[in-house]
Amino acid sequence: MIEKIPIYLLTGFLGSGKTTLLKRWLQEPLLQHSALIVNEIGAVGLDHATLGYASDASALLADSCVCCTGLPGLHEALENLFWARLHRGVARFDSVVIETTGLADPAPLVTSLKTHRFVSERFCLAGIVTTLGAPTALAIMTEFAEARSQLDAAGVVVVTKTDLAADAQLDAVSQALRRSNPATHILLSTQGSLSADEVWHAARSAIDSSQRSPKDRSWRVVKARVTAAGLVRRAIAPHNADTRFETIVDEVSADSLRNSLAGMIARHRTRLLRMKGIVQLADGTSVVVQFTRGDEKVQISPAPETMQTALTGMPSGVTLILRSR
Ligand SMILES: [Zn+2]
Repeated sequence: MIEKIPIYLLTGFLGSGKTTLLKRWLQEPLLQHSALIVNEIGAVGLDHATLGYASDASALLADSCVCCTGLPGLHEALENLFWARLHRGVARFDSVVIETTGLADPAPLVTSLKTHRFVSERFCLAGIVTTLGAPTALAIMTEFAEARSQLDAAGVVVVTKTDLAADAQLDAVSQALRRSNPATHILLSTQGSLSADEVWHAARSAIDSSQRSPKDRSWRVVKARVTAAGLVRRAIAPHNADTRFETIVDEVSADSLRNSLAGMIARHRTRLLRMKGIVQLADGTSVVVQFTRGDEKVQISPAPETMQTALTGMPSGVTLILRSR
């Protein structure tokens, strides 16, 4: 019997810090030989560039969401990785990490990992970790079914940005998590402080020791078109969100950019869930832009050296993820 390749599934609501943690984990022994599949709801992916992952065993599923429109693209990516590994077309990998979009419900994905013939015979789920940003946790759990599904599915919930929340707030978040899912293993993280071993071993035990895997649910079947490049184009908007890309060129400095972005945030204030992107300033330098609902202000930081290769050909601007109603 072939030994199945473990899949580590990382979910978490928009802006909850998945990429920050993953960036660290990919350098640790547990995950440093992993293949990486990054799924982004916007047409212009940023996370794969932020991760700056050197392995060629990686795939970006942009403009789709793996719980709905992107499922065929995910299966295809896993099949491609499997064959490339067998034929030594990519660096040898011993596991696969899937980072979902911030709006993905893991349940359909988990079901398909068990039922999709090719995939289920060759891959097995080794753990589900869900991140939850402490400052906005309670509001997000109340408002978004997607966030609740992510928490229901989790073997481990990593509460992130704990340095930005008061102790009383952290207690309230823990209590809310315990109420909704008493068996959840909760870990607290500040600035990506938890090790891959600590988190994923706990997630693996949750899978091994319980039948708490996400209940199978029916989900909306949406038409998706798989292009030759393996990207899945969205046929109808899933979830309750729209994404749009705003091109930004000719900003002369980080300060002028900050002003224009503040204006953009103000215009969309009630609907804006997330803004991120790479902007090229007039002097040729690139900056990373990040904003999540609940943040006091937009973060603008120089694009690190590790991102440079991934930035080639990437358009200058930001992706906005907005509530649609
Ligand atoms: Zn989805």
